[in-house]
Formats: sequence, structure tokens, C-alpha cells
Amino acid sequence: MAEQRLSEHVTLLRGVDDGTYPRGNPLLVRGGDTTVQIDASLDHAAPDVDLVLISHYHEDHVVGLGETKAAVSVHERDLPGVHSWDDFIRLMDVDAETFGEDMRRKFRWSERPDAQGFGDDAVIDVGGGVRIHAVPLPGHTIGHTGFLIEPDGVLYIADVDLMAFGPMYADLGSTLADVRTTLKRCAEVDAGIYTTFHHKGPYFDRDDYLADLAVHAGALDAREERLRALLAEGPITPQEAVGRGVVYRVDGRRPWYADAVEEVMVAQHLAELEGAPG
Ligand SMILES: [Zn+2]
Repeated sequence: MAEQRLSEHVTLLRGVDDGTYPRGNPLLVRGGDTTVQIDASLDHAAPDVDLVLISHYHEDHVVGLGETKAAVSVHERDLPGVHSWDDFIRLMDVDAETFGEDMRRKFRWSERPDAQGFGDDAVIDVGGGVRIHAVPLPGHTIGHTGFLIEPDGVLYIADVDLMAFGPMYADLGSTLADVRTTLKRCAEVDAGIYTTFHHKGPYFDRDDYLADLAVHAGALDAREERLRALLAEGPITPQEAVGRGVVYRVDGRRPWYADAVEEVMVAQHLAELEGAPG
């Protein structure tokens, strides 16, 4: 769980297994007398800093929020999922039976009804000339947000995780259109250093970053191609497409949530293909 200094004001808090899910790599931002932690992970739960800034409401980013007096802030569209467990379950689009008490305990989830929401153009003045700019990156969740820390030029893109597996868009309100816009946005923001929450990075070379971003984004086309191949055999429902290699490899490891996630994501691709001309 090493700390890695990225720039004058930004430190990466590396989790076990390089922050592979369920773990992660939050950031610590210091300016003036103020300390902000971006996301709270299993290895770096929410501490008693001035502010815990959350990229999105998912369980692996909000560990121990109920155990700290720190102020909590998250994009207003994800705010309900931090305010209440019922809304967390509703937004996750899973039934409480499946997710349930085990997960709640494992991630030390507790509601923070006092958490504040911020908007798309939010700028957080940390102090000492340090500012954190919200960079809206919706799709993974409706309120998923990256942060650009200036003047250091560090861009944190959270769960746009740059893995070759590709993006996840199975939340309530997730859309493929948003994911595509977000991937473009990630390519446009010109920063000096790029970090994600899980495993990949940090990147100190823009070309390395863009190369991994292209591989990550390319998974969308590959999924679409595999779905087209299934469709060539005849019409198919999202449910029927589960387990046939569109999102998860047929012979690969399937996490417990794979069926639900694959069905929702295939439905999005089918809707997109149906809406597309020709
Ligand atoms: Zn997430």
C-alpha cells in the first residue's frame, strides 16, 4: 500500500494488487492547509481529511464514509446513491438480495445523508493555489466524474479504467452514447499525468495513455462485432445473448454479477444497432 508522489500537490495511494477490483488507488490532494482525498478504497478508507471527493457512488469508492467526519461531495446525479442504501441498490440496478448485507459489510458501506452534490462545471478551490476541476465522464454511472488537478496537470479518470476488457455500462441511467462521449472527452483533455482508480497507470507519457485508451475503447467495437455475428443467425433477445461471448469470454472467468451486467450491456448495443440506419 505504497504512496506514490505524482506531483507537488498530488499523491497516489496504491492499494493491494495494484488496486484491482475490489481494491483501488485513491488520490490525496494537498494545498494550503487543506487535504482532499479523491475516492475512498478498501486499503485507504475515508480518513478525517477536510473533504472526501467521490468520483461515483459505487461500493469500492465509498469505503468507510460513515466512519469519518470529513465532508463528502459527489456529482449531484450520483448523490442519491451516497445518501441512502435504497437508492444505492436502485441505481446499481441489482436486487438487494443479490448485493445485500455481505457486500454492505465488506465495503463498510454507510449512508451519508449530509453529502453535498456538485455540478458539471464544479471547481473546488483547495487552497494554496490548488484547484480541482470536475470533468464529467458519465456512462459508467450517470454522475461518474473525473478530476483535473491544477496547476499540477494531473487528470484522474476513475473507472474509465483503461483495461483491455473495456467499459462497463450496466447502471441505471448508463448509456452507450454517454460512454462514447466520455471516451472522446478522455482523449481531449491534455494533462501531464493521467491516473485511473484500478490497476492501470499512472501515465506520465500522453502517447502511452492514449494507446491504452484506444485499446479500452476498442472493446466496444469488438462487442458489437460479436453481437452482429449472433444476429446474423437470427433475432436474439439480450437474455438469450448472455453467456455467448459478447461481453465476457465464453471460456473465461465470470464474476458473480456477469449475467446481469452482460444482459444490460447487450440490450444497449441492440438498441444502438436498431437505431442505426442500415
Ligand atoms: Zn464503478
